[in-house]
Amino acid sequence: MKLTVVGCSGSFPSAESACSSYLVEADGFRLLLDMGNGALGELQRHCGLYDLDAIFLSHLHADHCIDMCAYFVARYYRHDGGRCDPIPVYGPEGTEQRLTTAYADTPSASSMSEVFDFHTVKPGSFEIGPFSVHTEKVSHPVEAYGIRVEHGGRSLTYSGDTGVCDALDELARDTDLFLCEAAFTHGKESIPDLHLNGREAGETAARAGARRLVLTHIPPWTDPEANLSDAREVFGGPVELAAPRTSYEI
Ligand SMILES: [Zn+2]
Ligand SMILES: [Zn+2]
Repeated sequence: MKLTVVGCSGSFPSAESACSSYLVEADGFRLLLDMGNGALGELQRHCGLYDLDAIFLSHLHADHCIDMCAYFVARYYRHDGGRCDPIPVYGPEGTEQRLTTAYADTPSASSMSEVFDFHTVKPGSFEIGPFSVHTEKVSHPVEAYGIRVEHGGRSLTYSGDTGVCDALDELARDTDLFLCEAAFTHGKESIPDLHLNGREAGETAARAGARRLVLTHIPPWTDPEANLSDAREVFGGPVELAAPRTSYEI
């Protein structure tokens, strides 16, 4: 599997990075995890506009899904001939309605479904192309999922947005690469069931036995180096900060 960080800024984009979006590739199949603010532009550095095979939305906060409205335009009003066929989109209950409302004036209430084939995510295991995926509800103010993606005996776990929870520990169990949010700063922000700080991300990785930890979703107003050192204090494996346009072979 190849993981490419399309965008990794938390909550709102930074000057350097779009919001959450991660491209996972294997066997020529391209799965995008989240499509936050600015992600569609960045994505085109890594693949063609129409080269995605499936999209997974961890939850419906704008910093994880709002560029789906822009992608709707690109697929629905395609300039090089005809409307795009529907691409599978996996998201929480109500994804189609939410995106339709956000767009505000789709030609009809069902226009989104002409170019997106919506599937409602529930906790469980299923296949997306060549990937075996497992999803669990994580701890966030809205319905939100973490996801474990497996292929060829290797695994990637993406936290989405979450506070500390058992579900995330299980998703990250012995995972090869744990892409974990660390939006908060240890000792500064502490709101349960919202976000992790660097220390909590490191503790989760340690409990789960993750092999490698990549911290992501760090907002522009947060010091990433503080979160990195907090994670390193509690997790003995390799830890680094996600950065746009960085790829990992898993
Ligand atoms: Zn977020
Ligand atoms: Zn969120």
